[in-house]
Amino acid sequence: MTLAQLRQELARLLGADGLLTEAADIAPLLVDHHARYHGQALAVALPRSFEQVAALVRWCNRRGVGLVPQGGNTGYCGGATPDESGRQLLVAMRRMNRVRQLDADNFSMTVEAGCVLRSVQQAAEAAGRFFPLSLGSEGSCQIGGNLATNAGGVHVLRYGMMRELVLGIEAVLGDGSELHALRSLRKDNTGYDLKSLLVGSEGTLGVITAATLKLWPQPRASATAIVALAQPEDAVALLGLLRTACGERLSSFELMPRSAVQLTVRHIAGVTDPLGNAYPWYVLCELTSPGDEPLSELLQEALAQAAERSLVRDAVLATSERVRAAFWRLRETVPEAQRLEGVNIRHDISVPVAALPRFIAEASKWVSEHVPEGVLVCYGHAGDGNLHFNINCAVDPAGRAADQSGSAAGPAGEAAAFLAREPQVRRAIHDLVVRFHGSISAEHGIGLAKREELAHYAAPATLAAMRAIKHALDPNGIMNPGKLL
Ligand SMILES: Cc1cc2nc3c(=O)[nH]c(=O)nc-3n(C[C@H](O)[C@H](O)[C@H](O)COP(=O)(O)OP(=O)(O)OC[C@H]3O[C@@H](n4cnc5c(N)ncnc54)[C@H](O)[C@@H]3O)c2cc1C
Repeated sequence: MTLAQLRQELARLLGADGLLTEAADIAPLLVDHHARYHGQALAVALPRSFEQVAALVRWCNRRGVGLVPQGGNTGYCGGATPDESGRQLLVAMRRMNRVRQLDADNFSMTVEAGCVLRSVQQAAEAAGRFFPLSLGSEGSCQIGGNLATNAGGVHVLRYGMMRELVLGIEAVLGDGSELHALRSLRKDNTGYDLKSLLVGSEGTLGVITAATLKLWPQPRASATAIVALAQPEDAVALLGLLRTACGERLSSFELMPRSAVQLTVRHIAGVTDPLGNAYPWYVLCELTSPGDEPLSELLQEALAQAAERSLVRDAVLATSERVRAAFWRLRETVPEAQRLEGVNIRHDISVPVAALPRFIAEASKWVSEHVPEGVLVCYGHAGDGNLHFNINCAVDPAGRAADQSGSAAGPAGEAAAFLAREPQVRRAIHDLVVRFHGSISAEHGIGLAKREELAHYAAPATLAAMRAIKHALDPNGIMNPGKLL
């Protein structure tokens, strides 16, 4: 069949407004967030209903067409970008964006996969409830993408990753079969946990169309501080102290080096240095509670104890919602500031929390010895042992702006040479992660970016089990071909 005939069939399935084929309409969806992966597509399907998704999956099986699900396209691993053949169908979920049900008494809500995360948080809040998933991309990423990547974010310490926030799922599996499992039960031991299998599957097993999410009481009180530290060892000790003193109330514990603060102050309008002096490391920590508790006093007392043990160099508490928002803006714009600074090599890794300082010391030493032109910006969700161990290329930005030629000798050439070393740098950092019994993908997934790394590091039995699952649920291999495995 010709491409035109395939498009005609799709238009019949979805209606005239359900299919995008014009290059100008689909171009923004064919490139990933970091503009690293570029693809082509047969068309972009915009299904409105579960039935239309089911029809699309069956059609793809009949016609042997690969189907690439896409949510907000904020993923960091190229998982939502089609290949370059122009024969894959991109299925953008944005029109499936209804809140189907919110049950405040059951502390649950059922939403469609194309709901933007922030709108889900807002719907929960309007009912006096709290949906805790929170990421820098929450204004664009969608629940389907959050489920498919098992997203983490800044509240994992207290509430867990996306897998722990979901009670039920509705999906069309790769073979076209329909999974109607929108249960809102806290206890359900009826065999294999299929929803858990779809969470983190990155669009390779089926299209998620809706989910029932867990809700919590809305936090009413909060206390937020930025704490300056001399070294990562002090961060681990501070984490232990805060967990002991504040228990469940500790909801975020984010680590940043001085280099991250510098980059953010340089590139993001309105962000200022949080403390008068410069310090090697900073922690942003936050306590929250649904009750009317004096959390600022609790945090101050805990930080005073930490100061007595010489763990803390300086600290500042947010005195208003405006200051609290400014602290979070500093933390959440680090990825954007890094992007604006120039090319970088990124790692999303985790190690056991207690091993963080030793990992940082050894990995930093390796970088300073082997990547002398690199500036380490190693920050992240330290409360979960998760670091974004990123290395920026120290090319003079003024020079880069002046040099548009890409000549091998100029700054653009240096940046290209820096990026060309990524496979070796990545392998060395990941080898170290494995030595520390860590993970080479803590929260961003595998997609295209880490496919070779997964194949290299995963045990043969693990890979064989993954392939067997893939084959069982997607026998024709139409779901997101070439991703993950
Ligand atoms: C500024 C910024 C900050 C970020 N911070 C974090 C963070 O703290 N923690 C974190 O975990 N991530 C973070 N991310 C990464 C990203 O936002 C998350 O991975 C997010 O969950 C992706 O959601 P999305 O809707 O954009 O998915 P997409 O990028 O569209 O897709 C991601 C993957 O999910 C698949 N997929 C999407 N929708 C479906 C569906 N309905 N059914 C089946 N498969 C589907 C795609 O095929 C692809 O493989 C951040 C990104 C940015 C830009």
